[in-house]
Amino acid sequence: MEKLNDHIADAGKKVRLIDANKAQAVLVNMAEHLLEAGNPEMAGAVGYAAEVIGKQKTVDAVEVVHGRWLSYLDGEHIMPDVYFKCSKCGSRGHQQRWRYCPSCGAKMDGDGNG
Ligand SMILES: [Zn+2]
Repeated sequence: MEKLNDHIADAGKKVRLIDANKAQAVLVNMAEHLLEAGNPEMAGAVGYAAEVIGKQKTVDAVEVVHGRWLSYLDGEHIMPDVYFKCSKCGSRGHQQRWRYCPSCGAKMDGDGNG
């Protein structure tokens, strides 16, 4: 049987950005249910976990916006193989397919958010 610590150790190998507010809300909700169910010890433990999450260091982070370079092969430009436009912001006339759009900052690894 695996121990809980094994999972925690695996998770600790790299920093993972999560929605701490959502995790905290789930744990607070769980603690309230445990309290209503007459299990104050477990409610206290889960409430403590919520408190610990609330005390963690925060970092400035923004969700990565993904885009891709579109060619003008639709006939919109006279040099369709030289110039590209951003699928996210529509910024036009780029001669290089940058890894990030210089106009909107989209990561040019494909549309969608994954
Ligand atoms: Zn863009």
